[in-house]
Amino acid sequence: SSDFPRPRETRVFAVSNQKGGVGKTTTTVNVAAALAQRGANVLVIDADPQGNASTALGVDHHSGTPSIYDVLLDDVPMAKVAQRCPEISSLWCIPATIDLAGADIELVSVVRREFRLHDALRDLLEGPGKDLDYVFIDCPPSLGLLTLNAMVVAQEVLIPIQCEYYALEGLTQLIKTVEMVRKHLNRELEVSTIVLTMFDARTNLAREVADEVRAHFPTQTLEQTIPRSVRVSEAPSHGQTVITHDPHSSGAVAYTAVAREIAMAGAPAQGEHQ
Ligand code: ADP
Ligand code: MG
Repeated sequence: SSDFPRPRETRVFAVSNQKGGVGKTTTTVNVAAALAQRGANVLVIDADPQGNASTALGVDHHSGTPSIYDVLLDDVPMAKVAQRCPEISSLWCIPATIDLAGADIELVSVVRREFRLHDALRDLLEGPGKDLDYVFIDCPPSLGLLTLNAMVVAQEVLIPIQCEYYALEGLTQLIKTVEMVRKHLNRELEVSTIVLTMFDARTNLAREVADEVRAHFPTQTLEQTIPRSVRVSEAPSHGQTVITHDPHSSGAVAYTAVAREIAMAGAPAQGEHQ
């Protein structure tokens, strides 16, 4: 298993879709793990009060654990709250605890409320996190201030889409939010990557929705889709990603292929030095 190319500068992704249950967290942790396993230094920022990414990455996140809440609300440096994941040594996680549940409202009265994550992550990337290749921010299922903070610091938005009847309905609003952020808060932001999740090629509906997504987003939609797989859904209960839980399963193979496409899209051009 040879390494993937690494980007010249840290690529920061907001993994977002205001719909719940579409595979944001599953995609975040498995793509992050696959990239880390292939030689990259990767940080996952859990920005969902549910803390599902923290669970899947096997890091401590009981109430009171130093977390993203302390970074956002109390100016605690990210380096102080990041935990190394037990399964993969080049993978780090900033956990979310249930304390984050109030943050969308608490942030409203804070100065630079849209820039809290930006300021903290830029400090990390200029200091102890300067060797990070990728940062993935697992967003909550809403377009509130937590998601806005993620979009303000990211260059790229990764949208997981579950190929079902209402899949495209919420997308218009999500794209509008990205446009708004680009216009007013972060000129760099773009929807770079769309991953089709829990894809069942045997159903007409899944294929039709996939075709429609590809028609709307021809360059962003990855070739590789993620199949529905019990191994993927059971991995978090072992505090693992499917990449380490069952490396040869269909889910692990698919997520590794997705990670490869993402790495290739950001690879330095031929002749450029790393
Ligand atoms: P979100 O973060 O968007 O709410 P999750 O990643 O938590 O979505 O996924 C929602 C549910 O679907 C979880 O129970 C997860 O384990 C399950 N799931 C996600 N992807 C797959 C898959 N490829 N195969 C089977 N179950 C999956
Ligand atoms: Mg989630």
